[in-house]
Amino acid sequence: MKKPFVTHAQLKEIVKKYPTPFHLYDEKGIRENARRLKKAFAWNRNFKEYFAVKATPNPVILKILREEGCGVDCSSYTELLMSESAGFRGDEIMFSSNVTPKEDFVLARKLGAIINLDDITHIRFLEDAAGLPSKICCRYNPGKAFEMSNAIMSSPQDAKYGFTRQQLTEGFRVLLDKGVREFGLHAFLASNTIENEYYVKLAEFLFKTAVELKQETGADIRFINLSGGIGIPYRPEQKEVDILSVGEGVRRAYQKILVPEGMGDVAIYTELGRYMLGPYGCLVTTATHEKHIYKDYIGVDACAANLMRPAMYGAYHHITVMGKENEKPGFRYDITGGLCENNDKFAIDRMLPEIDMGDLLVIHDTGAHGFAMGYNYNGKLRSAEILLKEDGSARLIRRAETPEDYFATLDIKY
Ligand SMILES: *Cc1c(COP(=O)(O)O)cnc(C)c1O
Repeated sequence: MKKPFVTHAQLKEIVKKYPTPFHLYDEKGIRENARRLKKAFAWNRNFKEYFAVKATPNPVILKILREEGCGVDCSSYTELLMSESAGFRGDEIMFSSNVTPKEDFVLARKLGAIINLDDITHIRFLEDAAGLPSKICCRYNPGKAFEMSNAIMSSPQDAKYGFTRQQLTEGFRVLLDKGVREFGLHAFLASNTIENEYYVKLAEFLFKTAVELKQETGADIRFINLSGGIGIPYRPEQKEVDILSVGEGVRRAYQKILVPEGMGDVAIYTELGRYMLGPYGCLVTTATHEKHIYKDYIGVDACAANLMRPAMYGAYHHITVMGKENEKPGFRYDITGGLCENNDKFAIDRMLPEIDMGDLLVIHDTGAHGFAMGYNYNGKLRSAEILLKEDGSARLIRRAETPEDYFATLDIKY
């Protein structure tokens, strides 16, 4: 059984001050999880997690992660600005972008971020835009050479990202020629994997590639970035990834492949988003309408504009009707938002306890790629974000949008 990190009593207090819908984050859970990850990779002296900002772009969340020793992984100009304002500097920032605008590279260079190039043509592009740094990372797309895929990102040969294997060798040579001294290797090949093996297989694969690249080009490879992709159990019957065993598997691969090649000082980086925040956020919404036609519908005050994953990927998000945790799930509902889109459903044919108007619903596991994927379709406004602090109190970390925000880019009277 999945249990919310917040109690019904706590929520009833919070909604007195902050109306639903809102995303709520669990500071305690975030910190404990970050410490677990750090422990799993403690064997690697320079290990660092670069949190993927796109998963939960909120400066208060970023600061919490910074206190836990994390850096940030940015993919755009505004994510760089937000990271800078949250206190991240230089090597604490990874910039993993693609189809990158010139100004983004200029800002990344100004902040001293580690740039992760997505393509061999970006060497020239970056050089012209902002000059080449002395340390750089290249993103690898192994195509058919790496097998393991799922629904969100299909097999690497169909993915738009990264250098081919041959381009890596060529790219490293060009970069060496242009004075680059320190290298990193990166690959992001699958998303939301809940098997313990994915990260270990990816690590083995990248370690072997790094050894080859060193032999072929003489490049000094300083770090290997295993990127994101560790998943979370969205469904109650799924099991959590055992992060300690993942760390141990990566350690064994490191001992076996890198250490004998004199590469025992290579740093391991991760760029996790979902794993860091997913379970430590939820969307809180109120049941406002019920409708009984060919099916039974419960309408809530949140919609797909607040959480797109179910509408976009048919993703499962567990739902708890607060205060009715121990009641029999004897009713079959579609839980819907109010968009003029029939896919605006948080759940379809979900068995739940009987829902009364005014009941608070917790939609689980929205801490990553939740609020962040929000949009303004149908003129819907983005919700607030609230932090449930370690002492149990609630802090508003982003106010809800108002119509003024929605109209801010237009010159109209209303
Ligand atoms: C999205 C992304 C991540 C994080 O992915 P998760 O699946 O949330 O762990 C990491 N690195 C890059 C380059 C990404 O685009």
